[in-house]
Amino acid sequence: MAKQEFKAESKRLLEMMINSIYTQREIFLRELISNASDAIDKMYYKALVDEEIVFNKEDYFIKVTADKANRTLTISDTGMGMTQEELENNLGVIAKSGSLAFKKDNEAKDGHNIIGQFGVGFYSAFMVADVVTVISKALGSDEAFKWESEGADGYTIVPCEKDTVGTEIILTIKENTEDDQYDEYLEEYRLKSIIKKYSDFIKFPIKMDAKGQ
Ligand code: ADP
Ligand code: MG
Repeated sequence: MAKQEFKAESKRLLEMMINSIYTQREIFLRELISNASDAIDKMYYKALVDEEIVFNKEDYFIKVTADKANRTLTISDTGMGMTQEELENNLGVIAKSGSLAFKKDNEAKDGHNIIGQFGVGFYSAFMVADVVTVISKALGSDEAFKWESEGADGYTIVPCEKDTVGTEIILTIKENTEDDQYDEYLEEYRLKSIIKKYSDFIKFPIKMDAKGQ
């Protein structure tokens, strides 16, 4: 598939976010964990109305895997997953949640504190990652797809392999620069403290797997 352009508004918000001197980059993890939890919730509600689906509590969890050697941070869930179309529609458009309109209205009043208060969602991953890869298999589908983007210039979607239903978000964490530190997002203790700070209320287990530390 040729590289697709983000919708205009997505592009603007993405650029704004990547270029902002925002200090609370750590909230990306809150956003990705909350999406994972939403996806498991959807599975849970589906199971309530569909007898064919059995919701075994122990099968539903979120996993955060830090791999220092490969500089990747992966947030995976056993939720509903996304079809190719859903990857396209849900991750290719950002304006839906209204966060851009909100930001525009409040920018002048309150500098850069808006993002922290308002759920910016998936795109916040680009504050800490050079590349964001989403591998997903939707409930009821036997195909899986990989969505990948390096930021504002667009994304690709290609078929791929995935055994189980759910989603894996793989962040290739940026390299440290003189002014900005990103290594901390591969450190187990740091990740645990971010999870405790923002995601303590999440009702599904959040497992942690830290490789090479
Ligand atoms: P919001 O959560 O406010 O809808 P996001 O930008 O956080 O906005 O996410 C956009 C959409 O992408 C979600 O509404 C959902 O449909 C989809 N999505 C994101 N992450 C996942 C995931 N882990 N599993 C399934 N769908 C997801
Ligand atoms: Mg969200």
